[in-house]
Amino acid sequence: MAIIFLNHSECTICNQTLNKGEDIVSFPPMLKDNKFYIFNDSGFHHACLEKFSLGREALKYLKELYLSKNN
Ligand SMILES: [Zn+2]
Repeated sequence: MAIIFLNHSECTICNQTLNKGEDIVSFPPMLKDNKFYIFNDSGFHHACLEKFSLGREALKYLKELYLSKNN
C-alpha cells in the first residue's frame, strides 16, 4: 500500500493535500506494464478518481485485487 501522510501527501489528480477525514484511496506498487501504473503507489481522493477517466476502472481493479487476496 502507498504510504500516505495525511495533511502532507498530495492527490496526484488534483494536487491538493490528502486530509484526515477525507475519502482517500491508496494504490499498491504496480508493475510498469500494468494498465493502471499511473496510480502506482499513490493516494487519491475518491471523488477525484470518480472524475478521472481511468479512475473508475482503477477503483474496480483495486476492489478485485482485495477480493482475490482474501480468497
Ligand atoms: Zn484529489
